[in-house]
Amino acid sequence: MLNFVLFGPPGAGKGTQSEKLIEKYQLIHISTGDLFRAHIKDQSALGQRVSELIANGKLVPDEITIAMLEEEVDKNPDAKGFIFDGFPRTVPQAEALDSFLERKGTSIAGVIALDVDQEELTKRIAQRQLETGRVDDQADKLQKRIEEYFSKTIHVLPYYEGQQKLSKVNGIGKIDDIFAELSAVIDQY
Ligand code: AMP
Repeated sequence: MLNFVLFGPPGAGKGTQSEKLIEKYQLIHISTGDLFRAHIKDQSALGQRVSELIANGKLVPDEITIAMLEEEVDKNPDAKGFIFDGFPRTVPQAEALDSFLERKGTSIAGVIALDVDQEELTKRIAQRQLETGRVDDQADKLQKRIEEYFSKTIHVLPYYEGQQKLSKVNGIGKIDDIFAELSAVIDQY
């Protein structure tokens, strides 16, 4: 199995690039943000539990997120590999992912971080808010998400750097050029 983490702040282009990557490499895409939004839309018990946190740009507790992620992986026993998007977002999530994959006899092959500066992120998210109406893309909620990113999620990078698994890709430019750079990284595995 070939498993990758696509890493980056809100608006870095993880979702856009994941769509292209799964088509090219036939991997299963798991976005914890998409899964939470689906639960909220379906008004499931989990959706009701997390909707306020998400609307306010706060991270969902690790326990809940990890359990949901593991369940989703287990739904795809024949997968060639996974692209994890928006997960892990904390060091305990990264540790849980490592031990979960180890129990399955696999691991994270590489972590690719999309590098995008703050000014560009703010511009992209304002545009996405107009297009999708995502509540957590509104300016005040976005601020909280960015805070969560810089206080908790950023620490995931040194975690993977320590494992020599981290690659950085410039996330600004044409979608196809960024995709070509990402593909070049993946092709090394
Ligand atoms: P995203 O679509 O990845 O930006 O995720 C939207 C929201 O879902 C985040 O702002 C968090 O509230 C929640 N979320 C998604 N993934 C995670 C995660 N790995 N850990 C905690 N909360 C998450």
